[in-house]
Amino acid sequence: MEKKQIGIIGAGISGLLACKYMLSKGFNPVVFEVRSGVGGVWTKTIETTKLQTPKPLYQFSDFPWPSSVTEDFPTQNQVFDYIQSYAQHFDLIKHIRFNTKVVSIEYEGLSERQIQSWSLWNDNGQPVIVGGKWKVVVENMENNSELHNNLPLSFPCFPARSLGNNAFTTGILVDGGDTEASTPLNTDLLILATGYRGDKKLKDIFVSQTFQDFMAGSPAETLPLYREIIHSRIPQLAVIGFSESVSNLYTSEMRCRRLAELLDGTFKLPSIKDMENDMAEWDGYMKRYSGKYYRRSCTGALHIWYNDQLCKDMGWNPKRKNGFFAELFKPYGPLDYVPVPSTSN
Ligand SMILES: Cc1cc2nc3c(=O)[nH]c(=O)nc-3n(C[C@H](O)[C@H](O)[C@H](O)COP(=O)(O)OP(=O)(O)OC[C@H]3O[C@@H](n4cnc5c(N)ncnc54)[C@H](O)[C@@H]3O)c2cc1C
Repeated sequence: MEKKQIGIIGAGISGLLACKYMLSKGFNPVVFEVRSGVGGVWTKTIETTKLQTPKPLYQFSDFPWPSSVTEDFPTQNQVFDYIQSYAQHFDLIKHIRFNTKVVSIEYEGLSERQIQSWSLWNDNGQPVIVGGKWKVVVENMENNSELHNNLPLSFPCFPARSLGNNAFTTGILVDGGDTEASTPLNTDLLILATGYRGDKKLKDIFVSQTFQDFMAGSPAETLPLYREIIHSRIPQLAVIGFSESVSNLYTSEMRCRRLAELLDGTFKLPSIKDMENDMAEWDGYMKRYSGKYYRRSCTGALHIWYNDQLCKDMGWNPKRKNGFFAELFKPYGPLDYVPVPSTSN
């Protein structure tokens, strides 16, 4: 069977996690990154920056910090090295098109009218619908010297000749070699992992004004993403890393895990109406605890409750601790969500 093609925009922690989890389910991811290396914001922060989240909370659940990092709050360089090592360890680099900016995305194959008549996301509650694809328009940034502040682990060969320097092209190259041939990517699912200043980036990337308006939502409400991942009225698209938490790495990993299970058919999404009711309830919680900052969608105080929802969606027991007292008194962290047979339903 043909592997589903997944486009991922961004190679910060969110995009890398998305890539790794899509691979773990046998999908075919292609990551577009405007910079020349992985790491997102950690490639640019000043050297004196330190992680503000304690290290045990900011770690990949299957890739511990190296023993050489003894500090509880690692430095910018240590965080950057850790992220690069993760990408290298899971062999993610070969899936990334560096120096490649996604300038716009356009949904093709089904009309907006058709889409708006659905009562289920993608008309079936699942991530993919036959006939609909995302067209990804990229710009080759290889000659943009501003983007070469940090060198990546390697420079994968991007076929610049085919695109032309700083040229716009429709679709992307899937051959990855140095031939002139180019084939537009048929993207079954597109994941936006575009990071900082997320609301603006998420909105402006759409060609469709309707989708722009959907993604922006009402200024009087939080960004309308079900479980902070899916817009109920934009098909075949997911967002990872827009809404923040006490530990963004851990949160992005939970979201990628859930998205991978959704793609794998472990569960279906509820109806659009039910998702919108749920989002309205979520909006109320967000406003109650974050006051005027609700548009930043930080899930901080709701973190455990939010993770419980993700676990339930995947059919997992949200009580991850071993014992009643541990459940009551021990703090939760990324390692609690490593799937082990004894804690899975
Ligand atoms: C100084 C500083 C300290 C921080 N400390 C903490 C902390 O202690 N704890 C914590 O949880 N979080 C912290 N953060 C937040 C941090 O943003 C997250 O932890 C995390 O790194 C975000 O990762 P991301 O992949 O979601 O986004 P980003 O790291 O922003 O990555 C997004 C990537 O997408 C790429 N991209 C965007 N648009 C396009 C496009 N159109 N085409 C191609 N590529 C594109 C960008 O180049 C970037 O590489 C800190 C942030 C900063 C700046």
